[in-house]
Amino acid sequence: MSLRKIIHVDCDCFYAAIEMRDDPRLAGRPMAVGGSAERRGVIATCNYEARAYGVRSAMSSRHALKLCPDLLIVKPRFEAYREASREIHSIFREYTDLIEPLSLDEAYLDVSDSQWYAGSATRIAEDIRRRVARTLHITVSAGVAPNKFLAKIASDWRKPNGLFVITPGEVEAFVAALPVARLHGVGKVTAEKLTRLGIETCLQLRDWSRLALVREFGSFGERLWGLARGIDERVVHNDSRRQSVSVENTYDTDLPDLASCLARLPELLESLNTRIERMDASYRPDKPFVKVKFHDFTQTTLEQAGAGRDLDSYRQLLGQAFARGGKPVRLLGVGVRLRDLRGAHEQMELFPPQ
Ligand SMILES: [Mg+2]
Repeated sequence: MSLRKIIHVDCDCFYAAIEMRDDPRLAGRPMAVGGSAERRGVIATCNYEARAYGVRSAMSSRHALKLCPDLLIVKPRFEAYREASREIHSIFREYTDLIEPLSLDEAYLDVSDSQWYAGSATRIAEDIRRRVARTLHITVSAGVAPNKFLAKIASDWRKPNGLFVITPGEVEAFVAALPVARLHGVGKVTAEKLTRLGIETCLQLRDWSRLALVREFGSFGERLWGLARGIDERVVHNDSRRQSVSVENTYDTDLPDLASCLARLPELLESLNTRIERMDASYRPDKPFVKVKFHDFTQTTLEQAGAGRDLDSYRQLLGQAFARGGKPVRLLGVGVRLRDLRGAHEQMELFPPQ
């Protein structure tokens, strides 16, 4: 397998970060997103101030409040998190189409074939971090490595708001010093068993032959043998079909009125059309839509069945969308929903015309 460049991107305390962004009163004090203690809720995410008290994800809210009596627990707003996740993915897609989401706030990107920055994954990761911070006002950490398991460890290495790179030449030494408990797939039980066998680092694990590891751990022994040497050939899966294509821009200064929004439409449509042209023939552009995010982060999306993809249609949509808020605008997006012709084709094969 040729050398790959994998980036693992992971938002820092994602749900909590979105809540602090949307309500600055929450920032600078211990807070968490989760269920209420009275209802036996659990903590989904907490900020770093709360972590200083020992509060952690998946902990019961009741216990979290014992550790940190001042902890403020707010209810999750998943629609806001999904929306932020969509925005982050639209940034990812500028660099590669090979994206494998692990959750709303975590994804692997394979940028081996990316043309950006002369193929420098490190610079792509820095750029992604910068753009997410600038457009979404939250921070992400990233790890760059030749495979998934190392990229994921790397993104955790300088958290929060950090970047850590493991170049192919550094893999050997990095993995040697790595505690086995950090290997992908090693849970509590396996870690305990490894400790009993006197294995704590990957360097020690390398003393064991493939056969001996298979004897102790079954088929996972084979995997352990590879991981101890920094080998992980899992590919970045990207099997989700796209629902839409869009471009959006966050403006350095808010656009004060409809006229200034309309003035930005032609350039947005131009880049949208470039994107549409680059798509393969298995998609057909369908309904146009616009997205408007106002300065207070409220937003609206409006689409219109049967409308064309010309400037006039988008002007009308934008006019209506703007009227829903009537406030200064920080972000404008234009796009089209897609018809998946591949799906249609497969369905025809499943249900042949009578
Ligand atoms: Mg995260």
